[in-house]
Amino acid sequence: MNKFVFVDRDGVINEYPGDGNYVVKKEDFHIIPGAAAAIAKLKSAGFKIFVISNQACVSKGLIKKEDLMNMTAAFLSYFDQQKAFIDGVYYCIHTQEEACSFRKPSPKMVFEIYRQNNIKPQENKILSYFIGDSIIDIKTARAAGCRSVLVLSGREKKEREPYWEEKPDYISDSLLTAADLIIDSNTKDV
Ligand SMILES: [Mg+2]
Ligand SMILES: [Zn+2]
Repeated sequence: MNKFVFVDRDGVINEYPGDGNYVVKKEDFHIIPGAAAAIAKLKSAGFKIFVISNQACVSKGLIKKEDLMNMTAAFLSYFDQQKAFIDGVYYCIHTQEEACSFRKPSPKMVFEIYRQNNIKPQENKILSYFIGDSIIDIKTARAAGCRSVLVLSGREKKEREPYWEEKPDYISDSLLTAADLIIDSNTKDV
């Protein structure tokens, strides 16, 4: 079985910067407590882990691509020290107006990751989850055929549930509780 967990970044790994805002400075990248422990647990449970994030701040000129890459390298190296190994980070840096085909809720970044890992969804057995803090992530999960987990550590709050255009398969407080939920539900399945 090929096991994947796709994780959104802002509001899941690091603190949500607020509606319409971006994290454009290293000092504003605050890791949510338990995020590294969550990744480490999923890794030990045999999942490949990829971060999939829209970062239109690059196209909007709010941050240089190089600085986004430096910020990414900094959190990855911190995570590595906690044995929280992330297999890859994929960003779409385009604005909605640019209509990039990789921008979430498009499933194309997930499919690209499958392709790069020589996984053919028609032929290979895949168990995959998508964890995000926004309904855009839940729509991406649905389009990509992943089980979805909405975490309440960022953009969405439980009281907004009547307005959700796509219902998540699971709701969890944070990445850490989401990791426990994924691991529990898969030991029960066996
Ligand atoms: Mg997010
Ligand atoms: Zn793009």
